[in-house]
Amino acid sequence: MEKKQDIRVHPITRVIDDINRIFFKMGFTLVDGPELETEYYNFDALNVPKDHPARDMQDTFWIKPSKDFAGVERRLMTTQTSAMQIHYMEKNKPPLAIICPGKTYRHEATDATHEMQFQQFEGLFVDKNISLATLKSVLNKFFDEFFEKDIEVRFRPSYFPFVEPGAEIDISCFKCKGEAGCPVCHGTGWIEIMGAGVVHPKVLNTMGINPNEWRGFAFGGSVERLAMLKYGIDDIRLFYSGDLRLVNQF
Ligand SMILES: [Zn+2]
Repeated sequence: MEKKQDIRVHPITRVIDDINRIFFKMGFTLVDGPELETEYYNFDALNVPKDHPARDMQDTFWIKPSKDFAGVERRLMTTQTSAMQIHYMEKNKPPLAIICPGKTYRHEATDATHEMQFQQFEGLFVDKNISLATLKSVLNKFFDEFFEKDIEVRFRPSYFPFVEPGAEIDISCFKCKGEAGCPVCHGTGWIEIMGAGVVHPKVLNTMGINPNEWRGFAFGGSVERLAMLKYGIDDIRLFYSGDLRLVNQF
């Protein structure tokens, strides 16, 4: 007798699949990139100054250079997926729309919401005649479909070196309408979800894209955070514990 195969898909893989599927439907191209990166792609090309505290702030895993690589630019484990955008813009001219999920590394203490290795996803689109309203409608569409609910999106001003202006993105709570005691939004009705902004003209210039002619929008967030929200998981460390009691629920 043929045994029926029991296929389980890890929640992180599910979320990455959802991200790719939803953005692919909106016309985005899926882009992959290296986990071992040079300082140029991870920081310099993204307008992070040499002495900027972000290089320490992110507590980067720098790779010890071996004798064989004397004189070669120092390397690090990617601290964010934005470097993939630079690789892509070097080879492709606008208009463009890409989505890049990938592993990132930061040397920090682990707790219920922090891991040293985690997954980010990053989106970028460069076109003429687009505005923040375009970014808002793209994100709105994504969250509506991801949470299978009518989700509202709001922007709050923030700072990231590679965008100007930058924004924190909040979404309306998918569990309640701002009720006291809600474990997801803590009664505020809003959930902090990702960062976004208008691509800094310096970054476009570095890539040979004329910022007077083209506008770029970028957004990025944590895959684990989306998975924790969607599936009600309260400790990020569970994803990488190898505990089958977690995976067997999916
Ligand atoms: Zn709520």
